[in-house]
Amino acid sequence: MNEPAPPRQVGVYPGTFDPITNGHLDIITRAARIVHRLVIGVAVNAGKGPLFPFDERVDLVRAETERVARASGTEIVVTSFDTLLVEFARSVGATVILRGLRAVSDFDYEFQMAGMNYRLAPDVETVFLMASERHQFISSRFVKEIALLGGDITSFVPQMTRERVLARLSSRPA
Ligand code: ADP
Repeated sequence: MNEPAPPRQVGVYPGTFDPITNGHLDIITRAARIVHRLVIGVAVNAGKGPLFPFDERVDLVRAETERVARASGTEIVVTSFDTLLVEFARSVGATVILRGLRAVSDFDYEFQMAGMNYRLAPDVETVFLMASERHQFISSRFVKEIALLGGDITSFVPQMTRERVLARLSSRPA
């Protein structure tokens, strides 16, 4: 008897990606094993003063995830969004929201967001993934702070992103 085909799920992975880090890439690689199409949603509205405008954040995520798409065979689509997350998820036909979870620091915020999104859209499930030990502690915020103070960010971000971060910081008025 033939095995039933695995369910074809569309998932969204939303975030600010200011900039994309090896932590995000770790989560994206894991997410690509779970869904057949992964829509990475780059939030236009990134709180106060992101380092990169949203279109550049989208370009970087697109460039850095090409290899993951090729290796996994999962279709990866990168797009910006400025609506309610559950509306964005529905608009792309997603039934799963993927989020990464780092230690305890993320839990409270993620717990509230998942609960409220579930109330708004019970047909969309939030799934949490953990990055490998090597990448768990990485955050975009600290990458920017370290780079700004002249520290080495090589092991936290992919190479093209590192170059863009350094270029952007050096072109900023002191
Ligand atoms: P947001 O501004 O929504 O927190 P981020 O771009 O910072 O967006 O992160 C997007 C998602 O990726 C969030 O779920 C965040 O917890 C997760 N994430 C970011 N860095 C890591 C990491 N190093 N390990 C695991 N998850 C991570």
